[in-house]
Amino acid sequence: MNILVANLGSTSFKFRLFRFDPATTLGAGGAGGATMLAKGGYERVTDYGQAIDDCLAELKAAGHVRSAADLHGVGFKTVLGKGVTGCVPADDRVIAALEGFKEIAPAHNPPYAAGIKRFSEKLPGVPLVALFETAFYQWMPEAATRYAVPEAWYQAGVRRFGFHGASHKFIAERSAEMLGRADIADRVRGLYQSGPVPTQGPALRVVSCHLGGSSSVTGIRDGVAVGTSMGLSPQSGLPQNNRVGDLDSAAVPFVMKTLGLPLAEVERQMTKEGGLLGLSGVSNDLRDINAAAAQGNARAKLALEVFTHSARHWIGAFHFELNGCDALVFTAGIGENNPDMRAAFCAGLDQLGIVIDPAKNAALRGTEGEISAAHSRVKILVIPANEELVVARETVRCIQSQKK
Ligand code: AMP
Repeated sequence: MNILVANLGSTSFKFRLFRFDPATTLGAGGAGGATMLAKGGYERVTDYGQAIDDCLAELKAAGHVRSAADLHGVGFKTVLGKGVTGCVPADDRVIAALEGFKEIAPAHNPPYAAGIKRFSEKLPGVPLVALFETAFYQWMPEAATRYAVPEAWYQAGVRRFGFHGASHKFIAERSAEMLGRADIADRVRGLYQSGPVPTQGPALRVVSCHLGGSSSVTGIRDGVAVGTSMGLSPQSGLPQNNRVGDLDSAAVPFVMKTLGLPLAEVERQMTKEGGLLGLSGVSNDLRDINAAAAQGNARAKLALEVFTHSARHWIGAFHFELNGCDALVFTAGIGENNPDMRAAFCAGLDQLGIVIDPAKNAALRGTEGEISAAHSRVKILVIPANEELVVARETVRCIQSQKK
């Protein structure tokens, strides 16, 4: 089964083509029976239709997809839809849902709506599947989803949704496997088809930290999210690379009135000039900020401290919410590759049973493994993110469940 994953960014189009061997169990053991046949993409895209045509031409020239018959599904990592979540056929209902919330995700929803339309025109009959980033959060307790806003705001859609769902779902599944909880890993695999089925045995409590260009922390009990640092939009939670993260709502009218900024300019600055870039004044890339801090740049040092403070705040929130923690997991660019930040997040938490092994931590970059000390009650794990693989697997599961 050949599955194409289309990743439509605000200015880029990236794709990966996976082949699933029907003889292998879908999902087990990290890679889960999938081989990546092709990977590519285009930057500074203005015409998504053209980019999709170019992608299909590339796959044809490489002999992977000579006609629509060689492609068994296309998966999209859609961000946020009005009234729709989960992993569902990418049809007119999904396009309308993306358009309904384009104000909340202006950089992502319009490209995805256009991309889905284009694929359905180009490849009639090939199943298209949308895996929403919000899907992993659909079973959060209602209290964890609500803001204290007037009812009309809530009815319009103002609530906590949660993002990075594909990444945190992979962590839920893979960490359960690594901790010897095959029962929980199975539960996670079938989550979008069956919902959370009953479990037996002790609860498995995981705090998952996706720390990258954008960052979020998710609390996971028995493979199901109980809370997230992300809110209504991916603007929220930890400071992001150049987006503000959590901010008191009074700040927006305040700067409009005192600095004389129009709303569009406030929105632009919050999404382009905030976050780690705004704090450090150096860069939106943590490697540059680390280098500047090492040279004594005070704003760069402060940016690292604010990021660490915020990450620890959310890790602590879910540690408490879950009544303890069996595993603390780091993933994505910073989580996988930056031992100094991991050490800072875990510093001084021995009374909570979180103790890092400095040598293991320093040695682990970009690969999977455990970095906790032998006496650490909480396992500290590093698991490389693989969001495209998750989209591909869920696309297969969705297509198979539609056939039943
Ligand atoms: P992502 O969005 O997952 O690609 O993560 C991007 C972030 O990860 C950037 O802030 C980078 O500074 C950081 N990052 C990526 N690779 C490395 C690396 N080898 N060492 C340290 N940080 C890295």
